[in-house]
Amino acid sequence: MTQSTPAIVILGQGSLATARRIQQVYPAAQIHGLAGRVEGADCTYQEFGVTLRALYQQDTPIIALCAAGIVIRTLAPLLLEKGAEPAVLAVAEDGSAVVPLLGGLGGVNIMAREIADGLQVAAAITTSGELRFGTCLLNPPSGYALGDLELGKRFVSDLLAGHSVRIEGAAPWLDQAQLPEDPQAQRSIHVGSAAREASASELLIYPRSVAVAVSAETADLPDAVRSALQQAKVAVQSLACLLASETQMASPLLREAALELGVPLRFVAAQSDIETLARVAVPAATVLTGHGMAIAVAGQPLDVSSIGRPRGRLAVIGLGPGAAELMVPAVKAELARATDVLGYETYVRMAGPFRDDQVQHCTDNREEMQRARHAFRLAAEGRSVIVVSSGDPGVFAMAAAVLEALHESADPAWHSVDLEILPGVSASLATAAQAGAPLGHDFCVMSLSDNLKPWSIIEKRLDLAAEADLALAFYNPISRARPWQLGRALEIVAQHRAPETPVVLGRDIGRPGQTLRTTTLGALTPEQVDMRTMVLIGSSTTCTFPRASGGDWVYTPRWYGEKPLS
Ligand code: SAH
Repeated sequence: MTQSTPAIVILGQGSLATARRIQQVYPAAQIHGLAGRVEGADCTYQEFGVTLRALYQQDTPIIALCAAGIVIRTLAPLLLEKGAEPAVLAVAEDGSAVVPLLGGLGGVNIMAREIADGLQVAAAITTSGELRFGTCLLNPPSGYALGDLELGKRFVSDLLAGHSVRIEGAAPWLDQAQLPEDPQAQRSIHVGSAAREASASELLIYPRSVAVAVSAETADLPDAVRSALQQAKVAVQSLACLLASETQMASPLLREAALELGVPLRFVAAQSDIETLARVAVPAATVLTGHGMAIAVAGQPLDVSSIGRPRGRLAVIGLGPGAAELMVPAVKAELARATDVLGYETYVRMAGPFRDDQVQHCTDNREEMQRARHAFRLAAEGRSVIVVSSGDPGVFAMAAAVLEALHESADPAWHSVDLEILPGVSASLATAAQAGAPLGHDFCVMSLSDNLKPWSIIEKRLDLAAEADLALAFYNPISRARPWQLGRALEIVAQHRAPETPVVLGRDIGRPGQTLRTTTLGALTPEQVDMRTMVLIGSSTTCTFPRASGGDWVYTPRWYGEKPLS
């Protein structure tokens, strides 16, 4: 079973050292520290209860470095509602005790042992079946699926009550277990891919040993697969993957069918017919055909990762301005699934930490088209690639370069890649939010960089936007190679706007050492701005007033002209 990345939650500075040791066991896990109490955690949270409950509800495994009682009380309101749950563990602050609390089927005991090994202590395993038999019968290893959980629980209590058991079929992981085995036993653990009636005297475990080769043209694909398996008397729980021809890689119907059936989809080079396709993909299997499908049944669980290849994925993601809290959840999930990460080194570092199995391809900031093509080459091999941008990938960043590379290419493998653009909070919006609402009415976003467009166009747009009384947001306002352009831009704006027009300068917003300044157009000079600064210039209606906590609020009213009666 693939575990999602756990969260390590700590309440005090004293737990950080233990948390770092646990992080060596799970390098991708982030340490969440209580704001104001913990310095140097990977991210901070404000409220323990809210944070823990949110993690639990998102199915994130939780390692809390505090008393078991605190964790129990905090999660108690959620426990009755939930069927499947993530692993939840309490670990003593000094690392002397590891207590699995919840998520027996989420592999909590396995995690407890892994953490305990890392901390060189013993895990406090309390699951009776596991203690008695040395294995959790209800949590078979990857490659196998349990038939029915409720029947399974009764079966294990029967064994604990003294019933003996025999094993039918191949269950290599039980070789080391201490089961009360007896060849004459009434109860049996049955391992096999044939469909079978559930019965209280049998614990059914299905090897994931079946692959079904399908075509996107088959109507109602998920139902068709289920009924083909039923007719062939093969258990649907044994389905390990769907197979299809590479020529159908971009088909949304195939993707949806695999999603509904809960199995991966693998692609194989085109063959003369579906039966050959199944035989080529799984050479050692018995192949049954019918209904335009071919069912390949192998003698043991299939190693799906070695069959054909998956559809490659390319996600162009926006990290937001920098702070982890401002990264959208879809981007976090994408970072966890990626095999390859491409981008300008600063942003790749900002997106990390990455696991050892995730390849980082760092490049210079300017090689955008090369990076985009490299991303497609990797994705076309079936890898899961992300290209990182700061802020939003569609705002003066990589998304347009990636689409340009695809538009220029005639390679069907590139066009079959599962391409998605995932948005982020752009620097102008992050800066505006901190200042108040300077972009609260119509505004214009411009990059002042003349690297890829003539300066004359920039001047024209500035002139018209300033004349149209739009609030202005300047990206790439200045750099060592472009020292004079900002001064000229401000001259143009000043022709249309009063010197007292409010200006917001946000530098490194959402990053360590961020600064936010409010000034006016008349007082603004290019020396106050560098390439890490966002410049927001108000319209004629933008105004400011003091905030109680110091500094000013800046906003542009929603109305224009005369204030409406309210
Ligand atoms: N895709 C990015 C913008 C890239 S252009 C986004 O949507 O935010 C780079 C410019 O963005 C910089 O020159 C600077 O003007 C601005 N910028 C990016 N991150 C910033 C931050 N954290 N604080 C202030 N400005 C930032």
